[in-house]
Amino acid sequence: MTIHRFSFPTTIHFGPGARREVARHLSDAGCRRPLSVTDRALAALPVLAEFRTHLRGLDAALFDGVFGNPTASQVMAGAAAFKAHGADSVIGFGGGAALDVAKLVGVMAVHEGDVLEYVWDHPQVRPIVHALPTFVALPTTAGTGSEVGRSSVVSQDDTHVKRVVFSPRLLASAVFADPDLTLGLPPAVTAATGMDALTHNIESYLSPAYHPLCDGIALEGARIAARALPVAVREPGNLSARGDMMMASMMGAIAFQKDLGAVHACAHALGAVCDLHHGLANALMIDTVLAWNGEAAGEKFDELAHVCGVAGGGAQLVPWLKRLKQEIGIVGGLAQHGVKPEHLPRLVEIASADICHQTNPRPCTAADFERFFRAAM
Ligand SMILES: [Zn+2]
Repeated sequence: MTIHRFSFPTTIHFGPGARREVARHLSDAGCRRPLSVTDRALAALPVLAEFRTHLRGLDAALFDGVFGNPTASQVMAGAAAFKAHGADSVIGFGGGAALDVAKLVGVMAVHEGDVLEYVWDHPQVRPIVHALPTFVALPTTAGTGSEVGRSSVVSQDDTHVKRVVFSPRLLASAVFADPDLTLGLPPAVTAATGMDALTHNIESYLSPAYHPLCDGIALEGARIAARALPVAVREPGNLSARGDMMMASMMGAIAFQKDLGAVHACAHALGAVCDLHHGLANALMIDTVLAWNGEAAGEKFDELAHVCGVAGGGAQLVPWLKRLKQEIGIVGGLAQHGVKPEHLPRLVEIASADICHQTNPRPCTAADFERFFRAAM
């Protein structure tokens, strides 16, 4: 008999207006000098200025040097800003990229060397040994769920290959999940990030790892996302649908403690080689990969179809995903999104090396990945 360990430790303040509670939380934790870490594009929008008005009474500084798929050099610049301000805490404000950088800024504020020496598969990986500064997270998209995650993705500046730092110390001390912050997201971003959330719930449920708690969360997350995503895309101001997507996004990220599958292996490759948006990449691959997984995951497909409100059982799951994509405006294949045949060898190489597919319900070879990418073109 194997002994398993489960933990769901993050405190989540969920609901419209939750952002107003950040200052009190930090003060109660003895923090006076937070550094807000955010995305360059977001920094130009009123949503950040409005949030900063709720930090009055604190000596808050801003690092807005996050852009694109975040790189190691962005993390190191953020850590330098932390030290220059004499900061005592980090506020991550933004989508998955900003939150991932914010977590690592906290690591590099109190650790030596370069952030890439802390990625899990570095040959001489350095341990995260020191207590990190207090970190709170405010997601402004509903997709990655990075706010509740214990990992952080960072790209190498030269190769754009995504590397991952894992540590329970990366968990936020509190999440302020405020759906007001997502009301201004354009439909295309809502659709792409929402498909990431849905994919996390589906792939983690399909993962064969033993984790019944996460299985329950993943199924409920899929149920919520399946209903809310088309509404959030169609009616951007629908606060209830926005709240549902923010919740489904966190549930997906909590569930993927039990790991993901081959859809994410493909998406990581598409991000690295073609700079494709992560959620869009998942959306473009999910029906192709799941059609192939179906043989190995029949009963789970029935369960997923049931919770997603799809009539006709597991065989209808993939056709439903295709219709959902149409409905939320994700159309065309990889080719229409800039992927070219000459990208294939590198895509296959990166996807095959990605750890995610080790928990795919069917083992995948390089030949399988080549077939997925060709089919999704
Ligand atoms: Zn994802």
